[in-house]
Amino acid sequence: MRKISFALLAGIVLCSCGEKETIDNEKPSFKSVKINTVEQINATTETEVVTNEEFKIDIDVADNIDLSQLKVEIHENFDGHNHAKIAVLDTFAFNEIHTITGKNATKSLNIWTNTTDIANGDYHLELQVLDKSGNSTEYVVPFEITTP
Ligand SMILES: [Zn+2]
Repeated sequence: MRKISFALLAGIVLCSCGEKETIDNEKPSFKSVKINTVEQINATTETEVVTNEEFKIDIDVADNIDLSQLKVEIHENFDGHNHAKIAVLDTFAFNEIHTITGKNATKSLNIWTNTTDIANGDYHLELQVLDKSGNSTEYVVPFEITTP
Protein backbone atom coordinates (compact mmCIF):
# COMPACT_ATOMS: atom_id res chain seq x y z
CA MET A 1 0.00 0.00 0.00
CA ARG A 2 2.76 2.38 0.95
CA LYS A 3 4.67 1.55 -2.25
CA ILE A 4 1.64 2.44 -4.38
CA SER A 5 1.22 5.87 -2.83
CA PHE A 6 4.91 6.62 -3.37
CA ALA A 7 4.51 5.62 -6.99
CA LEU A 8 1.48 7.89 -7.35
CA LEU A 9 3.32 10.77 -5.73
CA ALA A 10 6.31 10.26 -8.04
CA GLY A 11 3.93 10.24 -10.99
CA ILE A 12 2.37 13.53 -9.94
CA VAL A 13 5.79 15.17 -9.50
CA LEU A 14 6.89 14.02 -12.95
CA CYS A 15 3.69 15.31 -14.51
CA SER A 16 4.06 18.79 -13.02
CA CYS A 17 7.70 18.90 -14.25
CA GLY A 18 6.59 18.02 -17.75
CA GLU A 19 4.02 20.79 -17.80
CA LYS A 20 6.74 23.42 -17.58
CA GLU A 21 8.08 22.36 -20.97
CA THR A 22 5.22 23.87 -22.92
CA ILE A 23 6.01 24.76 -26.50
CA ASP A 24 6.99 28.40 -26.86
CA ASN A 25 5.62 29.86 -30.09
CA GLU A 26 5.87 33.44 -28.96
CA LYS A 27 8.73 35.54 -30.33
CA PRO A 28 11.00 37.48 -27.99
CA SER A 29 10.83 41.26 -28.26
CA PHE A 30 12.91 44.42 -28.02
CA LYS A 31 11.66 46.68 -25.23
CA SER A 32 14.31 49.33 -25.63
CA VAL A 33 17.37 50.00 -27.80
CA LYS A 34 19.44 53.04 -26.91
CA ILE A 35 22.51 54.58 -28.52
CA ASN A 36 24.19 57.01 -26.12
CA THR A 37 21.00 56.97 -24.00
CA VAL A 38 18.77 58.00 -26.94
CA GLU A 39 15.87 55.61 -27.55
CA GLN A 40 16.03 54.15 -31.08
CA ILE A 41 12.77 52.19 -31.25
CA ASN A 42 10.36 54.20 -33.39
CA ALA A 43 12.84 57.09 -33.44
CA THR A 44 12.24 59.74 -36.11
CA THR A 45 15.83 61.01 -36.31
CA GLU A 46 19.14 59.15 -36.65
CA THR A 47 21.61 59.29 -33.81
CA GLU A 48 25.16 60.36 -34.67
CA VAL A 49 28.25 58.86 -33.09
CA VAL A 50 31.76 60.25 -33.51
CA THR A 51 34.86 58.51 -34.85
CA ASN A 52 37.58 57.61 -32.34
CA GLU A 53 35.17 57.87 -29.45
CA GLU A 54 33.39 55.35 -27.32
CA PHE A 55 29.66 55.03 -27.71
CA LYS A 56 27.19 53.12 -25.60
CA ILE A 57 24.43 50.75 -26.64
CA ASP A 58 21.78 49.59 -24.16
CA ILE A 59 19.41 46.83 -25.19
CA ASP A 60 16.39 45.54 -23.22
CA VAL A 61 14.79 42.34 -24.43
CA ALA A 62 11.98 40.13 -23.14
CA ASP A 63 10.48 36.71 -23.75
CA ASN A 64 7.37 35.00 -22.38
CA ILE A 65 9.40 31.96 -21.21
CA ASP A 66 13.20 32.10 -21.52
CA LEU A 67 15.72 34.08 -23.55
CA SER A 68 18.76 32.49 -25.17
CA GLN A 69 20.91 34.74 -27.32
CA LEU A 70 21.44 38.32 -28.39
CA LYS A 71 23.34 39.04 -31.58
CA VAL A 72 24.72 42.55 -32.06
CA GLU A 73 26.11 43.54 -35.43
CA ILE A 74 27.17 46.84 -36.96
CA HIS A 75 27.84 47.28 -40.68
CA GLU A 76 27.92 50.07 -43.23
CA ASN A 77 24.82 51.16 -45.09
CA PHE A 78 26.41 53.43 -47.70
CA ASP A 79 24.33 51.91 -50.47
CA GLY A 80 21.06 52.08 -48.54
CA HIS A 81 20.77 48.31 -48.81
CA ASN A 82 17.99 46.17 -47.49
CA HIS A 83 20.25 43.31 -46.32
CA ALA A 84 20.39 41.56 -49.66
CA LYS A 85 24.16 42.14 -49.65
CA ILE A 86 26.81 42.90 -47.06
CA ALA A 87 30.48 43.66 -47.82
CA VAL A 88 32.90 46.61 -48.32
CA LEU A 89 36.32 47.09 -46.71
CA ASP A 90 37.68 49.87 -44.48
CA THR A 91 34.37 50.48 -42.82
CA PHE A 92 33.57 50.03 -39.17
CA ALA A 93 32.21 46.58 -38.33
CA PHE A 94 31.21 44.95 -35.07
CA ASN A 95 29.88 41.47 -34.40
CA GLU A 96 29.15 39.87 -31.04
CA ILE A 97 26.86 37.15 -29.74
CA HIS A 98 25.84 37.24 -26.08
CA THR A 99 24.20 34.53 -24.04
CA ILE A 100 21.17 35.81 -22.14
CA THR A 101 18.69 34.04 -19.85
CA GLY A 102 15.40 34.65 -18.09
CA LYS A 103 12.28 36.51 -19.17
CA ASN A 104 13.99 39.90 -19.23
CA ALA A 105 17.57 40.79 -20.04
CA THR A 106 19.55 43.98 -20.38
CA LYS A 107 22.81 44.20 -22.29
CA SER A 108 24.99 47.28 -22.19
CA LEU A 109 27.89 47.52 -24.62
CA ASN A 110 30.60 50.13 -24.81
CA ILE A 111 31.81 50.21 -28.39
CA TRP A 112 34.96 52.02 -29.44
CA THR A 113 35.25 53.03 -33.06
CA ASN A 114 39.02 53.15 -32.25
CA THR A 115 40.33 54.91 -35.34
CA THR A 116 39.73 58.06 -37.31
CA ASP A 117 40.45 56.10 -40.50
CA ILE A 118 37.06 54.44 -40.71
CA ALA A 119 34.65 55.63 -43.33
CA ASN A 120 32.02 58.09 -42.12
CA GLY A 121 28.45 57.67 -43.16
CA ASP A 122 25.34 55.63 -42.62
CA TYR A 123 25.54 52.44 -40.59
CA HIS A 124 23.17 49.79 -39.39
CA LEU A 125 22.98 48.42 -35.88
CA GLU A 126 21.40 45.06 -36.58
CA LEU A 127 20.06 43.17 -33.57
CA GLN A 128 18.67 39.68 -33.30
CA VAL A 129 17.21 38.14 -30.15
CA LEU A 130 16.53 34.42 -29.76
CA ASP A 131 14.56 32.54 -27.15
CA LYS A 132 15.27 29.00 -25.89
CA SER A 133 12.81 27.53 -28.41
CA GLY A 134 14.58 29.18 -31.35
CA ASN A 135 12.05 31.94 -32.04
CA SER A 136 13.82 35.08 -33.19
CA THR A 137 13.11 38.77 -33.68
CA GLU A 138 15.28 41.26 -35.56
CA TYR A 139 15.53 44.99 -35.20
CA VAL A 140 17.65 47.25 -37.40
CA VAL A 141 18.62 50.72 -36.20
CA PRO A 142 20.08 53.14 -38.75
CA PHE A 143 22.65 55.57 -37.33
CA GLU A 144 25.49 57.74 -38.52
CA ILE A 145 29.22 57.86 -37.86
CA THR A 146 30.75 61.30 -38.28
CA THR A 147 34.08 63.05 -37.72
CA PRO A 148 33.90 65.94 -35.24
ZN1 LIG B 1 22.30 46.76 -43.02
